[in-house]
Amino acid sequence: LRHVGKSFRLRGALFGPARQLHAVRDVSLQIPRGSITAIVGESGCGKSTLARMLLGLETPSSGEILIDGQPIGALDRRAFATRVQPVFQDPVSSLNPRKTVAQIVRFPLDAHGVKHPAWRAARVREVLELVDLPQRLMHSYPSQLSGGQCQRVAIARALAIGPEAIICDEPTSALDVSVQAHILNLILDLWERTGTAFVLISHDMAVVEIMAQRIAVMYLGRVVEAGETAQVMRDPLHPYTRALLSSVMTPEPEAGLPEPAFSGMAPDPTDPPPGCAFHPRCPRAFELCAVLEPVLGKPAGAVPEGKGRQLACHLHPPPGPEAAQADRGSR
Ligand code: SF4
Ligand code: MG
Repeated sequence: LRHVGKSFRLRGALFGPARQLHAVRDVSLQIPRGSITAIVGESGCGKSTLARMLLGLETPSSGEILIDGQPIGALDRRAFATRVQPVFQDPVSSLNPRKTVAQIVRFPLDAHGVKHPAWRAARVREVLELVDLPQRLMHSYPSQLSGGQCQRVAIARALAIGPEAIICDEPTSALDVSVQAHILNLILDLWERTGTAFVLISHDMAVVEIMAQRIAVMYLGRVVEAGETAQVMRDPLHPYTRALLSSVMTPEPEAGLPEPAFSGMAPDPTDPPPGCAFHPRCPRAFELCAVLEPVLGKPAGAVPEGKGRQLACHLHPPPGPEAAQADRGSR
């Protein structure tokens, strides 16, 4: 993704005069082939809008999304769908209630003109086996299945055409807690067996830590910190990342973490605060934060620089004139 943004116009009685909602702002991100990349943040931070753009369901208002250097807008729908497939949050509503499991899983094959009946049937059996669904459920309807089984069907459908990437938007948050771990393990297992890249949209740092090699933390439409998961978890630099982490970690005195967790609600995305959007909630905010928006860049100085580590916070400014200014501000 290169400088991808998405804004919506809100109008109508509810919102008064038309307003712009900047759901995603200036997101640049690489999703390496065959990796699991997580995008995390609170609800309303723009991660689902980002997922919809990755799936070609929304067109960016600015910037561009490329696969192998080719803008996705230039690919026709069919060609695009063979490369990127979705798994949505609510498996029940994402499956057609009038179709059987076999018909649902076969749908991408039909849509892509895979006509040979024996080949189609073999592929359906194969992907059902991959997602650990008994073949006898092939002729069942979604209403006859549990939530976890429905999500397995949705994953099987995403796999059927052999895509390069599967975008999972909160794939377990609509499921019972007891089922969540099974689905996450299944995704890990499929990732190992198929080499498919996964983009995992989540609000749960504990899940992301187990699943993803790379992580991008979003706040109010922007990526505020990104890097290898192990490194971000070990040494979170952005106060928002630290707050997200402290909310899931059990207190360990030796660990030296965390910041006091932030308080309050996320601000109104149609009227974001000036400067750093996190400043009204940030326990480390100083004067500069309220007036100058930090730029996402490689953090400099004493900070360990992992591969692709990126940060937008005045506490660890990238090298440059702005950095010097921020540095003075923090003293
Ligand atoms: Fe906090 Fe300032 Fe960093 Fe924003 S830029 S996260 S307000 S310290
Ligand atoms: Mg969402």
